Amino acid sequence: MPDSSYLEWPFLQASHRRLKAELDLWCEANSALLEPQPEGQQADLDAACRGLVKLLGEGGWLVHTVPNTADDVNQRLDVRSLCLLRETLAYHSGLADFCFAMQGLGSGPVSLFGSPALRSEWLQGVASGRNIAAFALSEKQAGSDVSAIATRAERDGDHYILNGEKTWISNAGIADFYTVFARTGEAPGARGLSAFVLAADTPGLTVSERIDLIAPHPLGTIVFENCRIPASQMLGEPGRGFQVAMATLDVFRTTVAAAALGFARRACDETLAHVLNRELFGAPLADLQMTQASVADMALAVDTSALLVYRSAWAKDGGQQRVTREAASRLLIAQCNCLEGWV
Ligand SMILES: Cc1cc2nc3c(=O)[nH]c(=O)nc-3n(C[C@H](O)[C@H](O)[C@H](O)COP(=O)(O)OP(=O)(O)OC[C@H]3O[C@@H](n4cnc5c(N)ncnc54)[C@H](O)[C@@H]3O)c2cc1C
Repeated sequence: MPDSSYLEWPFLQASHRRLKAELDLWCEANSALLEPQPEGQQADLDAACRGLVKLLGEGGWLVHTVPNTADDVNQRLDVRSLCLLRETLAYHSGLADFCFAMQGLGSGPVSLFGSPALRSEWLQGVASGRNIAAFALSEKQAGSDVSAIATRAERDGDHYILNGEKTWISNAGIADFYTVFARTGEAPGARGLSAFVLAADTPGLTVSERIDLIAPHPLGTIVFENCRIPASQMLGEPGRGFQVAMATLDVFRTTVAAAALGFARRACDETLAHVLNRELFGAPLADLQMTQASVADMALAVDTSALLVYRSAWAKDGGQQRVTREAASRLLIAQCNCLEGWV
């Protein structure tokens, strides 16, 4: 039985505890559908992800990836809910967690900075699972160093003309829309970027390459050749694209560690089941002192990661504008702990 005592921590509210319990029940009821087995074919993987987005939408879980004015808790993106949902989905299915996360990350700039028209055009489809979202920031020479982005958007009357290439883009090939960051030239470096939302069928937008992963999900390189975008599809102010990207990552970075936490909890539970059932030298493996010490280290690592994750999420939900330090420290430690858990 997974340890759920952390749900009583003061970082979380009764609504969070209910959400977690409901999702656990739903995951158990849908376990066969949550673990599709793509045969290594790209088409199978794409179909599996489309199916999972639809399933998560029908289950009502994707509403949490966009702000919902009709709901008390989710009037703005609630990072604690996102973390609990990602942790729980990751525990049950890595691919389902990926699909959930990308709906939030890909649409985040629209949620946080989109005009009312853009929000109503895209967000309902994200929440229902009808529209698949993608976040196109990285380029070959611009990963951590976002200020090195070379993709350009040049003003042409009421439009911008977009040219360039983005790589490592999750959902490339299956997304219905992309949020894209490009150089608009108001100033050098980070102060000359702007963000846009683009439908996947915009003329000039192509997926030039798909990238294989050890734990597969759709990932690829996209190319923009003279894509004509109405200026009304800009997200936020001209030249403020760096802030749009960082504000979005500040919401979703903590949730990456929450997913790592879900994987680590699962590894811990699988380990416990194994050491309790595996008999050797006439007794369960769990009777050996070194096994007990290893399991104790894993449990401790999981608990410390959970503390960092939910502190960071609570700080963000409590109104702290930037949680960069908390998010970065919990991301590093939770991911290290998760890796240790798997090893
Ligand atoms: C599976 C996967 C999915 C992805 N999906 C997306 C997506 O959907 N959209 C998107 O835009 N991008 C995506 N990316 C790209 C990802 O965001 C980049 O990999 C990330 O920004 C890091 O960039 P980089 O790989 O070029 O590493 P680099 O920027 O070259 O960094 C190399 C190393 O230097 C370290 N480093 C960086 N800065 C510092 C510093 N100041 N001090 C010390 N060390 C530093 C980094 O931690 C890293 O270990 C994805 C990547 C992967 C692997």
